[in-house]
Amino acid sequence: MPELSVPELLELDRRHVWHPYGPMPGRVDPLVVESASGVRLRLADGSGELVDGMSSWWSAIHGYNHPVLNEAACGQIGRMSHVMFGGLTHEPAVRLAKRLVDISPDGLEHVFLADSGSVSVEVAVKMCLQYWRSLGRPAKQRLLTWRGGYHGDTWQPMSVCDPEGGMHELWSGVLPRQVFVGPPPAAYEESYAEELRAAIARHADELAAVIVEPVVQGAGGMRFHSPAYLRVLREACDAHDVLLVFDEIATGFGRTGALFAAEHAAVTPDVMCVGKALTGGCLTMAATLCTARVADGISRGEVPVLAHGPTFMGNPLAASVACASIDLLLGQDWLSEVKRIETGLREGLAPALEVPGVKDVRVLGAIGVVQLDHDVDMRAATDAAVREGVWLRPFRDLIYTMPPYVTGDEDVARIARAVCAAAREG
Ligand SMILES: *Cc1c(COP(=O)(O)O)cnc(C)c1O
Repeated sequence: MPELSVPELLELDRRHVWHPYGPMPGRVDPLVVESASGVRLRLADGSGELVDGMSSWWSAIHGYNHPVLNEAACGQIGRMSHVMFGGLTHEPAVRLAKRLVDISPDGLEHVFLADSGSVSVEVAVKMCLQYWRSLGRPAKQRLLTWRGGYHGDTWQPMSVCDPEGGMHELWSGVLPRQVFVGPPPAAYEESYAEELRAAIARHADELAAVIVEPVVQGAGGMRFHSPAYLRVLREACDAHDVLLVFDEIATGFGRTGALFAAEHAAVTPDVMCVGKALTGGCLTMAATLCTARVADGISRGEVPVLAHGPTFMGNPLAASVACASIDLLLGQDWLSEVKRIETGLREGLAPALEVPGVKDVRVLGAIGVVQLDHDVDMRAATDAAVREGVWLRPFRDLIYTMPPYVTGDEDVARIARAVCAAAREG
């Protein structure tokens, strides 16, 4: 097949290719990326490069085309890209599982390697429901969460996404009906903690688990909350026989200034999901970790196995890159890098507060958010960022950034300027 020109490529893209949350045929031309290196995306139309302010949706924490990750991938391709995981095992998966057990909160001991974040949440929910079934309490099958969350696009995860502001309101009435409490306030409020305790107590007989994103709610609204609420959840769940699931798919691997956000509260959940940055953004892989209690409970049941087994479970190529990515992260002073970016974003985003229509500016770890008092004009905001040489992907009323940890100070400043420009134009 001959190489496609950019106009040809865009025409075929529009006609045949779905994009995230996109219409068919496509209505807005995406930018065509030719390659990516470090923190820069090279565009195919010859217009140059953009600094990536998105880390490809939280994942590319080490930037692109990283020699260490490339080497891990190439080495593994030479041995085997994939082999089934039923009846077979291999070093990359075993090493990755051990690595995750070692670095995650104490008590998480067993690892299910899934192929995407949403699937890891499905597995987490299945673990919790099956746990209670095994213990002879099948009525415990609902989930409780707070509003403003996002847990993925497959069925169970959709049911715990924010039912109103979220992207899944279309499906209300079709999805499993879960228990929702109000969104967590940024600061600790005893009245909200009481609300959490009361809701868990009231629904304890039908609740399998509480599932939340700890400390940072991502795609549900880019909101931050006090880690103290995580301890409230832990205590209430323990008191009322409810499992606690942390979805660390966005927050894991240092993004919030702790390796896992659960550490801000020194809380161990019963089940934890990781994904996104797990492979440094190179390949799709996620994992669901659980405690010995959950695994033992499942194993004591009538069906003493976890009935889940994706074709590409434990993919050796992804697992090898994930091991390399974790080693790369832990082999450096990642916390200083995240703090450095935090400082840069605080300084760089402060001027946004003066922009008419800006409602809030907030920064935590390597996450910067500008919230408007109206929905963003996506086209205008994106174009304004591109003019500053930066790739951003705003949504709803939010213009936000979570740069790769390797982003230099000048590029952090440039990203912040682009966010401000997008806020002015959007
Ligand atoms: C992105 C995300 C998911 C879904 O992961 P996918 O790999 O896109 O399926 C789930 N939970 C959270 C918190 C996320 O940020």
